Amino acid sequence: MSAPVNITVGSHLWVEDPEVAWIDGEVFRIDGQEIHVKTTNGKKVVTDVSKVFLRDIEAPTVGVNDMTKLTYVHEPGVMQNLATRYEHNEIYTYAGNILIAINPFQNLPHLFDTRTMERYKGAAFGELSPHVFAVADVAYRSMINEGKSNSILVSGEGGAGKTETTKKLMEYLAHLDGRSGTEGRTVEQVLKSNPVLEAFGNAKTVQNKNSSRFGKFVKIQFDKSGRISGAAIQTYLLERSRVCQISYPDRNYHCFYLLCAAPSEDIAEYKLGSPESFHYLNQSNCYELDGVNDAHEYLATRRAMDIVGISKQEQEAIFRIVAAILHLGNIEFAKGKEIDTSVIKDESRFHLNMAAELLMCNTPGLEDALIKRVKRVKKGNVEEVITKTLDPAAAVFSRDGLAKTIYSRLFDWLVDKINNSIGQDPNSKSVIGLLDIYGFESFECNSFEQFCINFANEKLQQHFNQQVFKMEQEEYTKEEINWSYIEFVDNQDVLDLIEKRGGIISHLDDACKFPKSTHKTFAQELYTSFTNHKRFSKPKVSDTDHTDFIISHCVGKVTYQADQFLNKNKDYVVAEHQELLTASKFPFIASLFPPLPEESSKSSKFYSIGAGFKLQLQSLMETLKETEPHYIRCVKPNNSLKPAIFENFNVINQLRCGSVVDAIRISSAGYATGRTFYEFLERFDFLDPEVLKGNYDDKVACRMILDKMGLKGYQIGKTKVFLKASQMAELDARRMKV
Ligand code: ATP
Ligand code: MG
Repeated sequence: MSAPVNITVGSHLWVEDPEVAWIDGEVFRIDGQEIHVKTTNGKKVVTDVSKVFLRDIEAPTVGVNDMTKLTYVHEPGVMQNLATRYEHNEIYTYAGNILIAINPFQNLPHLFDTRTMERYKGAAFGELSPHVFAVADVAYRSMINEGKSNSILVSGEGGAGKTETTKKLMEYLAHLDGRSGTEGRTVEQVLKSNPVLEAFGNAKTVQNKNSSRFGKFVKIQFDKSGRISGAAIQTYLLERSRVCQISYPDRNYHCFYLLCAAPSEDIAEYKLGSPESFHYLNQSNCYELDGVNDAHEYLATRRAMDIVGISKQEQEAIFRIVAAILHLGNIEFAKGKEIDTSVIKDESRFHLNMAAELLMCNTPGLEDALIKRVKRVKKGNVEEVITKTLDPAAAVFSRDGLAKTIYSRLFDWLVDKINNSIGQDPNSKSVIGLLDIYGFESFECNSFEQFCINFANEKLQQHFNQQVFKMEQEEYTKEEINWSYIEFVDNQDVLDLIEKRGGIISHLDDACKFPKSTHKTFAQELYTSFTNHKRFSKPKVSDTDHTDFIISHCVGKVTYQADQFLNKNKDYVVAEHQELLTASKFPFIASLFPPLPEESSKSSKFYSIGAGFKLQLQSLMETLKETEPHYIRCVKPNNSLKPAIFENFNVINQLRCGSVVDAIRISSAGYATGRTFYEFLERFDFLDPEVLKGNYDDKVACRMILDKMGLKGYQIGKTKVFLKASQMAELDARRMKV
């Protein structure tokens, strides 16, 4: 951030404050680089000139609806503007072409009703207040008028409102379609795919009681007449570990609790009990969600399943599997007679039987698959079969692995089913893609999941930079001004570190393939390979056992714990589990586990989740490149998830993660806010009395003022004046003196 120019005694500034992040005040003394400020909360602060920002004392009290209109684009200005608007329940604000959406944490029905949708239909962008509908409308018009696919990329941290925003976008597009009932079957199916996927892919977390634990890209296809004619849903990395492991105040995936609240005949059929009686649910003492009735949700999910085309029989099969997973989780192991072996505890036999019955595989078969491993060892020409029994810890690991595999295959099945059922329109050339994907994550403990999520965000950030930058250049071209390259932070080096050959993912895959590797050898490999990489570092700790590593992401440093990386990167189905389920008499289960080719079944073939994710992202980026992008940045104003609380530090952090201030700067950088001739004259005409007297053409008048002020390097376009950010400040300072 650069230091503002023209600070004098009496200037109004923003200075850092430990309580409210930025506080405004007035300069009362200047000692070289030291600025003395009296703040509005009565403090006297001495700070360095590089740490203060000019405050626009004429900023409208209700804020501006597009932040490129801010006189000074800097963090405190942006924060103040958003806070002011939020106070007035104005949750949407533009930052140029980007929409910032602050979670209201309350229903604002008037914002989303049919009348509002009607108002936004066909309205010029910027004519009405900022809104998600406006973004959807622009995307739709651009698709219709230019025949080009569009995409809307919704980002933000957990609980910021991405999924709700995406649903509003869908509802608006459905509204534009206008059909309902049987005529609008596809539209209904697209909308109802949400509750179905949420039941199986969303869960309560600390940050959000309906947190999406997977990324999603929905391509809505339109026919020639602009009506919805199909859709394709692509999902990314469902969080598998949640199926077996949760801690307070999280819950497992909603579907488990819904099933436990199902009508009594279902409960009886699956021999279920309360959620408290299942290990996969009772690790966290949170069972209910405020304002949510799981029994109703169960029925609503079944109805949504009807609409998206999942037959009653398939629904039975799905919930049968959900029940089987709950029973599976209750199978416990005790030490066996021989050392390092295990047996199933007598009291969990009931659950073993139930799991086997529901999965329709024989009980001894399931028991063996859980606790025994068969190895084929070649001795000369003779192949010997050795059976090894797992110890209790390994048996638990095996059980959880089985549960996770079944659940993730079930989830993939659901996505495929919905896609097939909605259907793809082979003739559609126009698509609107909606991306609802996890935002940057940096917790106290960051593992492989955070690594992948942050990798995805780096990819999106690069796409964002290139696009925003490009859009700016287009504006310059349109205005026919001379422009030169505008610097922006390039994150190619972080991406190279992660995904290039010889990068972290390659190292990880190598480690996974090599049986003797451990997380320690993996971390060591990284340390030696990237010693001099400026985006990579090793934490400064003396402990030689330490295996953490740090990546300097574009939004800041994140420390990763390497210990689970190898495990979590391996997506393989244990051969014994595969055999068991392939042989299931339950056709639905058997279809989730088609037989593997002879070769791979023996070796429990390893599939790299990291490398698979990388390919998925590459393909997403290629798709996005073909589209006209629109960006929505969701912001969570507080961690209490309550309305009307705007926590400055919290918001600033998210603005930084989303590079929001930078984006506004890019939008207004190089040349600050391109102001129309009229706007410019309105603000600055009295700087040149000559202009006030004469009756000049607007463009001529602008040039006269700028020349009189002795400014150099400004640009005059066809309709706008482009000034450097500092020049705008300079003109303002002169204005104060007049
Ligand atoms: P995650 O990354 O965890 O999936 P998310 O960004 O998708 O989070 P949402 O689930 O969309 O977040 O929103 C979290 C909660 O915030 C919602 O359950 C709802 O209570 C509230 N919320 C979000 N957007 C709105 C809105 N426009 N109006 C009212 N409430 C909202
Ligand atoms: Mg979500």
